[in-house]
Amino acid sequence: MTYPDLYLMIDGQRLSGGGRRTHKVVNPATGAVLAELPLADAADLDAALTAAQRGFRRWRDSTPQERSAVLQGAARLMVERQEELARIATLEQGKTLAEARIEVMMNVGLFNFYAGEVVRLYGRVLVRPVGQRSTVTKEPVGPVAAFAPWNFPLGNPGRKLGAPIAAGCSVILKAAEETPASALAILQCLLDAGLPSDVAQAVFGVPDEVSRHLLGSPIIRKMSFTGSTLVGKHLAKLAAEDCKRTTMELGGHGPVLVFADADIDKALDTVVAGKYRNAGQVCVSPTRFIVEASVHDRFLAGFVERAKKVVVGDGSGPDSIMGPMANARRLDAMDRLIGDAVAKGATLETGGARIGNAGFFYAPTVLSCTPLDADIMNEEPFGPVALINAYPDEAAMIAEANRLPYGLAAYAWTSDAARQRRVAREIEAGMVGINTSMIGGSDSPFGGVKWSGHGAEDGPEGIDACLVTKAIHEG
Ligand code: NAD
Repeated sequence: MTYPDLYLMIDGQRLSGGGRRTHKVVNPATGAVLAELPLADAADLDAALTAAQRGFRRWRDSTPQERSAVLQGAARLMVERQEELARIATLEQGKTLAEARIEVMMNVGLFNFYAGEVVRLYGRVLVRPVGQRSTVTKEPVGPVAAFAPWNFPLGNPGRKLGAPIAAGCSVILKAAEETPASALAILQCLLDAGLPSDVAQAVFGVPDEVSRHLLGSPIIRKMSFTGSTLVGKHLAKLAAEDCKRTTMELGGHGPVLVFADADIDKALDTVVAGKYRNAGQVCVSPTRFIVEASVHDRFLAGFVERAKKVVVGDGSGPDSIMGPMANARRLDAMDRLIGDAVAKGATLETGGARIGNAGFFYAPTVLSCTPLDADIMNEEPFGPVALINAYPDEAAMIAEANRLPYGLAAYAWTSDAARQRRVAREIEAGMVGINTSMIGGSDSPFGGVKWSGHGAEDGPEGIDACLVTKAIHEG
């Protein structure tokens, strides 16, 4: 398929050229340049801010039915365009077409859920003596600056656009420069469904320039960011300068507790598929496998056997189970983290090397006996590597799960009902999967605690994060 034209979408205008700097978008399966992406300059960002201010005034007064109709219309268009959207995502991000198609449907589910929620944004009437009246209303927070990363090129922009639009906000989206066409295609579904063009816009640029410019403006009242903890902390400080509201979806280091009483084969079939989904470039990826000692060897052998069977190839190939990594930075990170772990005493069970010289393919990797001082046991690897270690008992396993400052997703495999409840309570995480890797849903909050961020996307909480309350007292 041909790769679409790229542009900035500001106030309904497709802007490119004009002496703007550009960024080369690359196909991770080949390393070939797909297109040049225009980067916003200060005047572009000011134009987007002015439009967002106008768009907010318009959209906050829209009826819930209007918002609902736009979200449902965009969802319908995404279904119609599913194959086109999926192919764009695979071309610029590398993931398999099967995964990209699921991403489209996740957006469809979320937009339809929000379309239903938006007509239920109730306030409260407080109990007061006759003649007095006090009400609490919810209002849209204002124009939102949203920053979306490249790992879910369709899903992340869907999340960043859907909630503000449902809440009655305008939004300026800066999606990742690596995957711009997917973001533009999702925005186009909303515009084609009737969303006024100053309500949602898309800019690309030098990330730090764009975020400083947008967060430096008093027009922006909320920032929503998905990405690394390092960048998230930097942006949170910028947002704090103007007391802007924030939703932060940051990194994780997913612990997976595997107890001896678990259905080990079911656990293996589930977690191995989960580990290598999107080449491990998933914030809720299962990463630290914390295995009860008596089943460690069996679990490790079963994991390695399955990892070796994962077919790595171009995401558009019919047999590919895992595509390339999304960019060359990830290959370097894998080599550094795995090299450091092995140098510190870890055993490389399989993988541990790049595949071929074209594109950014990396072998599904398993490390065992990795010492806790290895960088990879402390830093989010964001790649196709599983870390499998043995622990003596439940207390040691929970302590290891909570050792890191991250707290996004955690998983536990056990058939003991009392232990399921204990573990779910004790683990410090925003999402816990017990005997499952399915921890998301359009009706369920998605977010973390500690260094994994705060606030949630999806579910009623996703819209709530774009609303402020106002108490009105009448004497
Ligand atoms: P990075 O940390 O520089 O970038 C992460 C994302 O943040 C990218 O989309 C980037 O465009 C954006 N970004 C970076 N600096 C920014 C700024 N000043 N203002 C606004 N946006 C900014 O590095 P990377 O190489 O793209 O990814 C490295 C790490 O980021 C990964 O190892 C992973 O830990 C994390 N990450 C997390 C997610 C997630 O879903 N939580 C997604 C992508 C990357």
